[in-house]
Order: sequence, then C-alpha cells, then structure tokens
Amino acid sequence: MSQERTERRGGERRRERPEIPPERQAAARRQIRTLGDPVLRESARPVERFDADLAALSRRMVGIMRDAPGVGLAATQLGVVQRVLVYEVDDGHPVTLVNPRIVWSSPDTEVADEGCLSVPGVTVPVERPVSVRVRAHDVRGRRLEYDADDIEARVIQHEADHLDGVLILERTTRAERARALRELREREAVGSNAGL
Ligand code: ZN
Repeated sequence: MSQERTERRGGERRRERPEIPPERQAAARRQIRTLGDPVLRESARPVERFDADLAALSRRMVGIMRDAPGVGLAATQLGVVQRVLVYEVDDGHPVTLVNPRIVWSSPDTEVADEGCLSVPGVTVPVERPVSVRVRAHDVRGRRLEYDADDIEARVIQHEADHLDGVLILERTTRAERARALRELREREAVGSNAGL
C-alpha cells in the first residue's frame, strides 16, 4: 500500500456549509451513530420492499447528510440496518442507491485523506480504486448500473463499506489507525474535563 499522501480530500465529510445554522448541523449530527456504537459493525440487510417507507428513509438520509454537512451517508449510520446509501457530489443532485454492489474496480488506485461523520474530527489516508462500476436499484426499484470516478467513486466505496460494517479505520495503515484513535481519545479526555 502506498504511503504517499495526496492533497485530495475524500470521504463523506464536507468541509463547511456556512448557510446551515450551527444548531441545525448539531441536530443532524446527533442522529448519526459514532465510533463505539455496535450498529456500525453490522452488515446491513438487503432491501426487499420498494415502498413509501423506503422513499421516506431516502429523503431523511438526504436531509441529514446535507445538514451534517456531508457528501454521503449510509443507513447504518442512522441505526437503520438496510442496504441504502445516499451521496451528493454534484450539488442539487442527490443519489440514492439501494442494495448497491460494486461489480468492477479499476486496477489503478489513489490515496486520499478521508473523513467520516461517524468518526468525527479525524481523517486518515485511504487507498481506493479510482473508478468503480456500481449496480443497484433506485428507491422505486429501477435497476441502475454506471461507472463512477474520482470523488464519486470514493464516496460510493466509503458508503458501501458502511453497509458491510467497515470503517475508514480498517482501510488505513496500522500507524494511521493508531494515530487516529489516539487523537479521538485525547479529544474525549479534553471534552470530559471541560464538562462537555
Ligand atoms: Zn463514513
């Protein structure tokens, strides 16, 4: 695995969204499960019914993703153990993938720093294929199959990992994982001392 760091940013956390009030961002983040919650380790179940509940879940996920703010979200991050993910790399065009499967990955890979709404405050370098072909259904049950590259491919892979219970900490080097966990522990200690 290449140790090279790139300037590219990835993962599902969006840098900033000044138009979203801080309290709305906080309300969205409170609904997102974080590291230590066992649901994040579960393998999500395939969706069998393309009904109004599924459409409502998709809308709720897009709303929370936008408010958090993020560029992607998996249902397991909300404690819903179903194979549904959403992402929005092109503003105004959110995509919902139901029962997604990555059926091809490019041999060429790239390392980029990834953040995760469920592992707040840290980024780790993750090596992933630059391009993937994804097969899925949309919320109405129509089949989708397309190729994605770069940021879009990275977000799809990140969210598909969530549906298998895999976090970025398992996708990075042992040293980076240790560093990230140390940072998280230090921040928690500061938080509890400050009574936060
Ligand atoms: Zn994530």
